[in-house]
Amino acid sequence: MSLRISQLPLGALQTNCYIVGDSESRDAVIIDPAADAEVILEKVTEHDYHVHEILITHAHFDHVIASKPVKDALNVPLRIHENEVTQLREMAQRARLFGIQVPDEAATPDGFLEHGDKLQLGLLRFEVRFTPGHSPGHITFVMPEYKVAFVGDCIFNNGIGRTDLPGADTATLKKSIVEQILTLGDDFMLCPGHGPTTTVSREKSHSIDLAHLIQFG
Ligand SMILES: [Zn+2]
Ligand SMILES: [Zn+2]
Repeated sequence: MSLRISQLPLGALQTNCYIVGDSESRDAVIIDPAADAEVILEKVTEHDYHVHEILITHAHFDHVIASKPVKDALNVPLRIHENEVTQLREMAQRARLFGIQVPDEAATPDGFLEHGDKLQLGLLRFEVRFTPGHSPGHITFVMPEYKVAFVGDCIFNNGIGRTDLPGADTATLKKSIVEQILTLGDDFMLCPGHGPTTTVSREKSHSIDLAHLIQFG
């Protein structure tokens, strides 16, 4: 087992799609097929991956624009938290509010994920943590053996997720970060939905938002 993480910033909002694969067994999963299906599929071909599933941190439109074409091309299941289904279905309308043209439809989910789920996808293992606040059904995918977490828009390199969109709640986001992200361990690498990766310890010491959180959370 040799973990390889490809970070692809895609679309108008440069949303990170992650392709997580084992370069030996070729097992892989796609987290947040953000946009540009052809770019995602090219990467899958380049690494000769066998993709097991598409996993979604949350269904803000910029994270799922390519969900349908990628799912259709690979013919694999897609899973998400149940609280995100409405946003997933309304992807196109919501994107239009931002003046961004996207396909009419997102993929339909094949199953739902919830806190505590353990996923075994080929040799790849993930634990699901429920991290709402930025979005009502936001989840985080943790790979404990590799000390890596895919945190969506919960927390970023030097900041935390916005809470001014429908269904968001600042107190809930703070609780998620304090209880589910900071408890992972200082040496965990965090792969966010936008911008460069970071670590738990770096965010504890550098993020003004987080300093505020720790003080008042
Ligand atoms: Zn978001
Ligand atoms: Zn986002």
